[in-house]
Amino acid sequence: METVYLDNNATTQVAPEAVSAMLPVLERHYGNPSSRHRLGIEAAKLVQRAREQVGSLIHCRPEEIVFTSCGTESDNLAIRGTAQLLPPGKRHIITTAVEHPAVKNVATSLSHLGYSVSEISVDKNGSLDLGELESKVTENTGLVSAMYANNETGVMFPVEEIGRIAKAKGAVFHVDAVQAVGKIPIDLSRSTVDLLSLSGHKFHAPKGVGALFVRKNTGLEPQILGGHQEDGLRGGTEAVPNIVALGAAAELAAKSSPLREEIRARRDRLEKWVLENIPDTRLNGHRESRIHNTSNIGFYGVEGEALLLSLAKLGICVSAGAACAAGSVKASDTLTAMKVPHACIRGSLRFSLSRYTTDAEIDYVLEHLPRIVRQLRDISKVNV
Ligand code: PLP
Repeated sequence: METVYLDNNATTQVAPEAVSAMLPVLERHYGNPSSRHRLGIEAAKLVQRAREQVGSLIHCRPEEIVFTSCGTESDNLAIRGTAQLLPPGKRHIITTAVEHPAVKNVATSLSHLGYSVSEISVDKNGSLDLGELESKVTENTGLVSAMYANNETGVMFPVEEIGRIAKAKGAVFHVDAVQAVGKIPIDLSRSTVDLLSLSGHKFHAPKGVGALFVRKNTGLEPQILGGHQEDGLRGGTEAVPNIVALGAAAELAAKSSPLREEIRARRDRLEKWVLENIPDTRLNGHRESRIHNTSNIGFYGVEGEALLLSLAKLGICVSAGAACAAGSVKASDTLTAMKVPHACIRGSLRFSLSRYTTDAEIDYVLEHLPRIVRQLRDISKVNV
């Protein structure tokens, strides 16, 4: 097989439906949505339609969607944009120990500016310690930011419970749903969430487009200053082709719930077979409370990078730890926070499936993986 792509939490293949939607925009509908002539008006209509498609996917009003360039920008806008409006008595921010750097690093930078930041820990399954959250949220807490699904393990947090705890003390509630939107149903019409980040390239739109849901009447300071675009919350000419593709991907995702169980079945088959047939392996993350496309497995006595490279030679694309952390030898923050044994963190691989993953691809991985693990373990024994 040429390519078996099991790295969909890093990024996804662009859906043909998204490509077809954006091509005419690239070719013909090149107007600036702020222009008042025909081409501009046409472009503005295309952006509006995409806003409706994205709003419909997560059950919010179109005017509550702010288009951005990516999930990272959405997280920055949500967190900095909220923090800058917090009065002195409310400058306590809560995040979790397993957030993506797009949240973690923003929180750290705010701590250098005088905000107090608390991180809530997770247990060995990656589940959030709600008791700790409850004890740390006070009248001084201005913002709680927690992820919907973890990018490395897929573990999901109980968003509405977190929201209830946050709202009880009058805190703004932000959710980084970059790994959840487009994969599972999200209904913001009956929700405690004030701000929610999403990213197009995680669910079959191209890279370069994301969005932030901003609930009506939620105060937010813009971070990119310029024109009046996006209701004054994000300056810069809209990336119309990408936005249109995001709308198409959102529509596709909204129609795809039957696929979820198919993806889960393939993921479960892969995971079960590996855990039962390859000795000294371990599932990292809660077995049930987990997004259906992700499996993070630790292989004792193997270097994850070596495993990844051996699989890559066979065309199998997976990730050792988060893709964003790859290239550095630093142990994954998420697995460290879960107190996964160090020897297992080093040998951990993330398999993340998509709507395009086939049974034959899973068979191909299962055909080759045991031999590769065995060979690498033999080599490391010789080197001891
Ligand atoms: N948040 C989470 C949970 C992610 O997994 C990622 C990307 O991996 C991001 C934020 C950043 O998204 P983007 O790559 O669109 O900037």
